[in-house]
Amino acid sequence: MPRWKCAIEGDDATFDRVEDLMVHQATEHDRVQCKVCGAVVPDGYFAIRHAFDEHSRAEYVRAYDASSADIRRREKIKEAVEEVADIREVVDRLDE
Ligand SMILES: [Zn+2]
Ligand SMILES: [Zn+2]
Repeated sequence: MPRWKCAIEGDDATFDRVEDLMVHQATEHDRVQCKVCGAVVPDGYFAIRHAFDEHSRAEYVRAYDASSADIRRREKIKEAVEEVADIREVVDRLDE
């Protein structure tokens, strides 16, 4: 059973279920503003998903001064989460 670590601003809270981690990140941490378009999104997975689904890699690199290693690291996190997470469950829980 992989343990998921929050890691936002050094938070070392861990969760057995990635869905619990995502709800934690979206509710316990301040939302962040996208540096490309100014949208306010939950920190953690949702911020990564927003950046990569809504914007091109080039826009992301310019706005965040990111390296290709930064991008690859975030893409890996996004893939790892999407492989196992029930995103719908998380969205439903956040809607309540
Ligand atoms: Zn946290
Ligand atoms: Zn944006």
